[in-house]
Amino acid sequence: MKIDGCIIYPILQKFYNSLSFLETINPDNYIFENIPKIDAFFQEFRNITFTMHKHFNTSELKQFYEAKKNEYLINDKMRWFIDTRNTVTKEHPFKLEKAISFKVYTVNNNYDEFVTLLTIDYDKKLSELLDEIHVILEKYNKNSIEVFFSIFILFIENGKEIDVFDQVILGIKTMWNFINDTRETYPCNCKKCVSLFNMITTSINNIQIKHRMLFQQDCHYYKGKIKKGSMVKLHLMDNGIYDKKKMRFNLATNPLFGNDVCKDDILLLKSWALNQIIILDSCLEKSNKQPELLATFCLVFEDNTAELTEMFSGTLKTTYYRMANEIAARVKKENIRAVLYACETVYFPLEYYLEPQIKSSNERQEEAQGTFLYTLIVSKKLNNIMAIGFDYSKLDDKNYKIKQLNNPEKMPNDFLIYPIFKAMKE
Ligand SMILES: [Zn+2]
Repeated sequence: MKIDGCIIYPILQKFYNSLSFLETINPDNYIFENIPKIDAFFQEFRNITFTMHKHFNTSELKQFYEAKKNEYLINDKMRWFIDTRNTVTKEHPFKLEKAISFKVYTVNNNYDEFVTLLTIDYDKKLSELLDEIHVILEKYNKNSIEVFFSIFILFIENGKEIDVFDQVILGIKTMWNFINDTRETYPCNCKKCVSLFNMITTSINNIQIKHRMLFQQDCHYYKGKIKKGSMVKLHLMDNGIYDKKKMRFNLATNPLFGNDVCKDDILLLKSWALNQIIILDSCLEKSNKQPELLATFCLVFEDNTAELTEMFSGTLKTTYYRMANEIAARVKKENIRAVLYACETVYFPLEYYLEPQIKSSNERQEEAQGTFLYTLIVSKKLNNIMAIGFDYSKLDDKNYKIKQLNNPEKMPNDFLIYPIFKAMKE
């Protein structure tokens, strides 16, 4: 099929424009400063189909557009984007509402949440939000020398919170497939199109890497100052999309776990610990430096399938509190019978624990005596958080590793994953 001119260019341009709003979001800003950019993304994204509609203007093109539109956009998954577009075209007020949630992690490994709803009639200025946050922080700071907290942008539609992170990535991917399909039928290799095509590919990758960062921020308050954290994470992706359902594996048939762990939770912990030791050993083989493992969770469901979550590390302890609370929320909603966790943690000389703590957690890190790898389990059956730990300074000693593997220990309830333990027992 041949048509005059370049039909794909205006579409690519609209698509790129919409992505660029998300891409220019600055992690150094407060997360709520980014709301106008997220709004602009949604507005511009909706305009892609208007542009398509306008440019597919012959009967052949119209037919093509209608068929492809039905294929890609008229389905449950894309309903959200399309519906919102329709409410805008019919000049109804924008139904999507936003809220700022402010979660303070408390000493008993719980959190307190403060939510401010932002609507068209009741929008708050940055300075007002910051004042609110400072009032809350001052209150918590009276009882502890440092305050760990996260800020979230929530999206609320008809009174119900919706998961915008996944929607955004899915919307981008689907639209990109739609556009690529169009490119195959009506190809254009003009310089403008090729260069935009490359820019879009880079842009999509960047957004995928930081997509959760677009809506949440981990912070720390110490000596009157707020510090914003950054987070590293890795996850297995299928065709560029992280789909947790597709990443499940069967415990019984997995060579690293096997049938016996399905009934015995301590054996499950031992297998998990052994897996982590194998990873550690392979890190050590590759380099003589002390390994740095990212923290990771493995969720075990009632049907004995399991899901490895993303691997992560953060510059602030806040990230770990937030992740533990996110897993706890999943335990409450899904049929999870056990949660495995692996993380590095530092330890200090004994006398250190006797002194009053006056330093922040980040400052204390520098005085650590060594590093431990903890592998842990929380399960419906077990009455305690159970752990197997390995001192990095003794990893050359095979007997030590075997001894540790055979001696799971009870962990105190102030451990970071206590919210998961609590959720499991509810
Ligand atoms: Zn072109």
